[in-house]
Amino acid sequence: MTSPLLSVHDLRVSFFTEAGPARAVDGVSFTVHAGETVALVGESGCGKTLTALSLLRLMPTGARLAPTSRVEFDGADILTMPERALRSLRGDRIAMIFQEPMTALNPVLTVGDQVAEVVRVHTALSGRDAWTRAVDMLALVGIPDAAARAQQYPHELSGGMRQRVMIAMALILEPALVIADEPTTALDVTIQAQILELLRAMRERSGMALLLITHDLGVVAEMASRVLVMYAGEVVEESPVELLFSAPGHPYTEGLLAAVPTLDTSRERLRTIPGTVPPPTDWPAGCRFRERCAHAWDRCASDAPPLVQLGPAHRVRCHLVQEPERRRT
Ligand code: SF4
Repeated sequence: MTSPLLSVHDLRVSFFTEAGPARAVDGVSFTVHAGETVALVGESGCGKTLTALSLLRLMPTGARLAPTSRVEFDGADILTMPERALRSLRGDRIAMIFQEPMTALNPVLTVGDQVAEVVRVHTALSGRDAWTRAVDMLALVGIPDAAARAQQYPHELSGGMRQRVMIAMALILEPALVIADEPTTALDVTIQAQILELLRAMRERSGMALLLITHDLGVVAEMASRVLVMYAGEVVEESPVELLFSAPGHPYTEGLLAAVPTLDTSRERLRTIPGTVPPPTDWPAGCRFRERCAHAWDRCASDAPPLVQLGPAHRVRCHLVQEPERRRT
C-alpha cells in the first residue's frame, strides 16, 4: 500500500482549567490516503472538532499539544513547520470547511472577491480570470445566479449560501486534502446531495482525500470508506464502513447506530444512549464509556481498555474483545 497522505500519531491536546487539566484529545492516531474518505464520528464533546483543528494547528487559545504528538502531511511535519510554510499549505494543498461560515468570512468583502482572492494568492491567474473561476465555482456549489451573488456581501446571503461560499473557497484550488467539519449540516437535503456529489466527483477526478467530521451516519454511509468513532477524547473504534454498519464492535458504536432514524415502523421509539459525554476534566477511570454502557462489569471500572486490532483496518477499544461472554443480550 502507498504511504498515507496524512498520518496522525498520538495526538494529545490539553487545556488547563479551574477544574484541573482537561485532556480533550487523548492519544488519537490514524491515517488518510489519497482518494480516501475517512469519517470521524461521535457525539458533541467527544473531541472530533478539536482533533480536526489541531491537525492544522488551529486550536483555540490555551490549548496545548503534547510534544510527542506527530502530524505528517505528504511527509512534512505539520506540528513543527514554520508558520509561513503552514499558511501556504493551508488553503492550497489542505483546505478546511468550518461549521460557522459567518465567522470565517470577511464581512467587508464581497463573496466573489473572497473566493477569487484564494485563486489570486495561490496561482498566477490574473484578477479577471480568478474572478471568472470564482463565479464558476460558486455555480458548481449550487449558488443560483452565481455572477450576481458573487457581488454580494456575506450578510446579504442566507446561512446555507454562506456555507456554500465556504465550500467553494475550500475546493477551488482542488486541494489534496479537505478537512470538513459538518460541511452540510446547515443545508437543505437537495443542496446537501449536490455538495456531497461535488466532493465525490472531485475525489474521483483529482484523488482528493477527505476527512469528514460528522454526526450524520447517513452521510458516513454514503461517503466514507473508513470510519473512526471517538468517545471522550479517544478513538474507540476504527472500521471499514460496511463492517461498522453490519457488525459494530464497540457498544458506543452500537448505540450510535441504534439512534439513527429508520423507516422501520416495527421499532417503536428511537433508542438513545443513556447519559451524556462526561467533561474532559472528568474522564472516568477504566473505560470512559462505562457509566453509559449496558455491558459494563468490574474490569471496566479498573482497567482502561486498549485499542485492539481485530482485522485489517478494524480496531476496537473494549474489554468485550477479550471476554465476549460478558456481553449482555
Ligand atoms: Fe462497555 Fe466495558 Fe467495553 Fe467499556 S470496556 S465499552 S464499559 S464493556
